[in-house]
Amino acid sequence: MNRLVNKEFRRIFALQKQTKIAMATNRTFTMIKPDATDAGHTGKIIDRIIDAGFSIKAMKWTKLSLADAQAFYEVHAERPFYGELTEYMSSAPIVAAILEKDNAVADFRTLIGATNPAEAAPGTIRAEFAESIAANAVHGSDSDENAAIEGAFYFSAREMS
Ligand code: UDP
Ligand code: MG
Repeated sequence: MNRLVNKEFRRIFALQKQTKIAMATNRTFTMIKPDATDAGHTGKIIDRIIDAGFSIKAMKWTKLSLADAQAFYEVHAERPFYGELTEYMSSAPIVAAILEKDNAVADFRTLIGATNPAEAAPGTIRAEFAESIAANAVHGSDSDENAAIEGAFYFSAREMS
């Protein structure tokens, strides 16, 4: 009997693990950045995201303190633009969101375009709305792992649908 129960637990555990991996690859994290919220582009950018087939699993309008921005971008702490980036990211409201779609991380990076809007492909969100390489309208996670970490920075499990 005990062996059967153990076997069942192992089966459920393996299934949960698979489900977690499947969920991770289907989700990404985004922020609409201060230049875009300030310019009144929030609604248009959300429309573009939904039109591209992403569904919104969590979303909030908020403002980062300088310390919040420094913590969020800690991976970039050694890069020369860290000071400018964290000041800019805490200068006005942002909209944080968790998005779901097949191949979410890569497809969202394609939708937003290159970091530098001068190099972003025509039709991408950054080509259309970004002001500069720093004030580039939107953030998009670069991996499934970072999507999960960044989403958890803003949202508790209870806030994610
Ligand atoms: N950034 C900047 N100057 C640079 C490169 C990046 O100000 O030379 C800012 C920009 O806002 C960018 C963010 O730092 O979105 C994070 O940089 P990353 O290289 O991760 O670009 P992303 O993944 O956002 O395209
Ligand atoms: Mg990045």
